[in-house]
Amino acid sequence: MPLFINKTKQFFILLMLAVTISSAVAQNKGVDLPQKERDNVLSLAALAMVYKDWQTSRNGRGHNIGSILVDQNSTPVFWARNSVVVRDDSSQHGEVRLIQAFLNCPGIGKYMDGYTIYTSLEPCAMCTGMIAMTKVNRVVYVQDDPEYGHARQALVNIKFPRLFEQKTPKGLSEKSELEQGWATYSKKKGSAITDYLLTDEARTVYAKADQDLNTYKLKYPQNESMLLATQKFIKDAGPETFDQKMMERCPKP
Ligand SMILES: [Zn+2]
Repeated sequence: MPLFINKTKQFFILLMLAVTISSAVAQNKGVDLPQKERDNVLSLAALAMVYKDWQTSRNGRGHNIGSILVDQNSTPVFWARNSVVVRDDSSQHGEVRLIQAFLNCPGIGKYMDGYTIYTSLEPCAMCTGMIAMTKVNRVVYVQDDPEYGHARQALVNIKFPRLFEQKTPKGLSEKSELEQGWATYSKKKGSAITDYLLTDEARTVYAKADQDLNTYKLKYPQNESMLLATQKFIKDAGPETFDQKMMERCPKP
């Protein structure tokens, strides 16, 4: 009898183990984990790039929003920050500035196939339209924008939507901190998300992203050169420049 109980116990232990393993496999099914790690690193880089030129008032360069462009090898190649105030031009969002300037770089051509944009805030309708029409492959944004976001899904009503893949790094702590921070702020103050992005609280999250990028511990060794290149890219990103000066950021042939 004790033998029978032991065998029954053994059976249930093995059954529980099998269920646990198969559910873990199912959860990660179809997820490219090294790519997920690259998305986390490059999302931190988009925040760190904004942090390096942090704005403390509405009368500065523009909003605390910015984007980096990454090539087919996950190497960052270009960056731009929102500059609507200094340019006195409401079209000067990070993504618009990034796309227009990058397409002016020598040898790039008409479209941006194969490139990914990592951006700190979910793209608005204007940027989504430009991303689609220039054939950018992928967008990864950090913070949801409940006000001007969800623009990509509107493209499905267009005959030739040029739909791109859009993701957000769900497990990134900075993402949830920014979204919770904004949810609390908007209940109290009810103003724009760009005002929340001027607060010390938001600045703290962006500063943490900068630090997390510089101390990132990789799980996938194949991402090492990407991490080193990204850390250097952010270190080298200076203050915002305009017009021809922006071309100094073009990839060297
Ligand atoms: Zn935009």
